[in-house]
Amino acid sequence: MSALGVIGGSGLYQMPGLDDRREETITTPFGEPSDSFVLGRVGGLDITFLARHGRGHRLLPTEINFRANLFAFKTLGVERVVSVSAVGSLREEFRPLDVVLPDQFIDWTRQRPSTFFGSGLVAHVSLADPVCPVLGEALHEAGQACGARVRRGGTYLCIEGPQFSTRAESHLYRSFKADVIGMTNAQEVKLAREAEICYATLAMVTDYDCWRAGTDAVTVDEVVARLNDNAATARSILIHVLGRLPATRSCPCATALRNAILTDPTRVSSGRRTGRPKRSSAGRRPIARSPPPTSPACAWSPWSARISARSR
Ligand SMILES: [Zn+2]
Repeated sequence: MSALGVIGGSGLYQMPGLDDRREETITTPFGEPSDSFVLGRVGGLDITFLARHGRGHRLLPTEINFRANLFAFKTLGVERVVSVSAVGSLREEFRPLDVVLPDQFIDWTRQRPSTFFGSGLVAHVSLADPVCPVLGEALHEAGQACGARVRRGGTYLCIEGPQFSTRAESHLYRSFKADVIGMTNAQEVKLAREAEICYATLAMVTDYDCWRAGTDAVTVDEVVARLNDNAATARSILIHVLGRLPATRSCPCATALRNAILTDPTRVSSGRRTGRPKRSSAGRRPIARSPPPTSPACAWSPWSARISARSR
């Protein structure tokens, strides 16, 4: 089984207790990921961890290079990614310290690249059901097994940030029937689907945003106060989920690009199908970075193979 990828959000900057721990620094045609990747094993099963905001929490949500992060997971052979994300609750019944497993997303961001495609290569993947059903079910079972208050289903609304919502916005988002609010998952879920990576979110509720009468509006202090408890819960769920995943994938995520590429293969130049991402071990920086190809998506070997197959 390939390693389970974990994107650690606010409050989850590392995975302690990993055996055979090592680091990999990846550079991609899209630039640098948020940080080097930490690889290790828990109970004999592999985990590949990335701190979404970088260790030390250095990156604004808007500054995160989501394409590089997902491309790097793909480069490392990761087939499943769990996104651990601090969120505000837009529903009375989703309380702080609850764990929500959203099954839908609304992208309310405005200035972020959200696709690997373009520059001569067009693809349209389905996002009707954006979360991997197998991974979602395994996370639900794992959450129950470790005693978390886990709720399956809900809509994650992704805002640009970095500011929290105004009260008017918070009420507006509630009228959308959104259940939790965050600043990072919209790009990840789209890019994971394009990369044929299974994706699911562990949304860790820290607050009630600012819509709730009689409750103070969310502040950084309140979020931080809840993050430690949430991080411990998240680590416990991740450890429990490892043994619940089948070795091979039978979910639709694995073939999301089948029939998704519209561009005439004869129009995709062979030069665009070349170029491989670089990797280096033990935290060393890559010696050099190759210039991005015209369409970095074409550099991805599975896509190249598919285009080549269609060319024949
Ligand atoms: Zn899947």
